[in-house]
Amino acid sequence: MTKTFDVVGIGFGPANIALAALFDDEGIFNNSVFLEKSKTPVWQEEMLFENALDIHSNIQNIPHRDLATLRSPRSRYTFMNYLHSTGKLLSHLNMDLLMPMRPDFAGYVSWVSSQLSNYLRTDQAVDKITMLDDIHSHVYRIDVKGKEPVFARNVIVGTGREAYIPKPFQNVIDDDRVFHLTSYKTSHTALMKKGAKNFAVIGSSQSAAEILLHMSKYEPRLELHSFMRRFAYPLKDTSPFMSEIFFPSFTDMYFEADDSLKKRIDMDVHRTNYGACDMDVLTELYRQIYYDKMHGANRITINRLTDIISAEADESGVHLTVRDARTMETRKEIFDGVVLATGFRNIGTSESSVRIPAVLDGISDMLDLSDDGCAQVDRSYRVKLKPGLESAGSLILNGLCETSHGMGDAGSLSLLASRSQIIAGALSWNDGKKNSVSTDEVAAQ
Ligand SMILES: Cc1cc2nc3c(=O)[nH]c(=O)nc-3n(C[C@H](O)[C@H](O)[C@H](O)COP(=O)(O)OP(=O)(O)OC[C@H]3O[C@@H](n4cnc5c(N)ncnc54)[C@H](O)[C@@H]3O)c2cc1C
Repeated sequence: MTKTFDVVGIGFGPANIALAALFDDEGIFNNSVFLEKSKTPVWQEEMLFENALDIHSNIQNIPHRDLATLRSPRSRYTFMNYLHSTGKLLSHLNMDLLMPMRPDFAGYVSWVSSQLSNYLRTDQAVDKITMLDDIHSHVYRIDVKGKEPVFARNVIVGTGREAYIPKPFQNVIDDDRVFHLTSYKTSHTALMKKGAKNFAVIGSSQSAAEILLHMSKYEPRLELHSFMRRFAYPLKDTSPFMSEIFFPSFTDMYFEADDSLKKRIDMDVHRTNYGACDMDVLTELYRQIYYDKMHGANRITINRLTDIISAEADESGVHLTVRDARTMETRKEIFDGVVLATGFRNIGTSESSVRIPAVLDGISDMLDLSDDGCAQVDRSYRVKLKPGLESAGSLILNGLCETSHGMGDAGSLSLLASRSQIIAGALSWNDGKKNSVSTDEVAAQ
């Protein structure tokens, strides 16, 4: 006989940590566990580098839109309580920082998660989710690499989105010299140890600019090439009016909008969160390039209006064939490393999207997909299951629903607290519905 949890969370990043904090604050769903693949989870660790203070390596989020405040300012898991409990409150207030430094916010996320360790099992990489049959009350079975399976009445997928690898790089992504920003620190450090001399950075996002700055500050001998389809790095739209996309009322409106209205809104609000950079980072990068030229060096080259046509790797390096959109001429360049600051995959049908998140592959037969084969969710983030599975518990996507719930639902910290409240509400409703069904113990199928 195997224990069945009321709730199993997959991943223990900010999204599921915020949910566990709510469980703890409210004393609900004590019979829950969160499975995290890392041994010691740290918020976006691969991009957590201490840039010089003058670069302001800050987060892009007002810190009180943290893991708890929006649902309960009295929670002990607020950013304010973190500052207070760690003896930093007064000096932090003295700095008058609208956005905290990134290592400080990562410290806050770890501080919250360390208090929730009774919910957490680390070193548990979830491989597959499947569902048991009707006799076993449609309980979910979660397979973990090299470990015993775990059973749950409800599953919360909080794995973060999959990295987007553009087509020209898909044939070389298994090469150690080509890597996404989600493995930047590890991969870049390994290549530096092997004597790498030049890198290409693909994309024009905040992360692309930060990576260029990081490499130029800490590895001054490196030659760096930025490649972007755009004319230049766009400035992030931080207008307070646009920033209302991070209000729960925006999510309500967006969720109800039809596809054409969603597209219209997306075009408008895109630069509040994607493919755009903060002014402090842009100013610093521009100054760095100017400073280098002043000293007769040209360490950072911006290749604007440039498309990557193909990539190949051999023992001499990674060969990029690129085309300048102004002249339509192609040329080949060779690099010791290529960093893809190319973003993440939302649910959808475009080349950069994914119809069903990979972690749901094992259960795809149970999903009520849209006409174009995509996973669908309701306002409470519950994945729609096929008719006949009404007695199954909830399968919830926590932080993967930007297509249905709007900009910022996956790529921002701002809505985590209010989202956990909605998810807990959906779980409680489901719990009431299923109280009559005894699923405390099931035999492994
Ligand atoms: C570099 C970077 C910087 C960002 N900075 C900001 C910012 O300043 N402000 C802002 O508002 N937003 C920011 N974001 C966007 C967003 O808020 C963060 O990505 C946030 O971390 C999302 O939280 P999450 O829990 O959904 O996903 P993640 O943080 O990605 O956490 C997912 C967790 O799940 C684990 N996991 C994944 N797959 C499995 C599996 N199969 N089995 C078990 N565990 C698994 C991972 O190890 C990870 O711990 C940033 C994103 C990135 C990439």
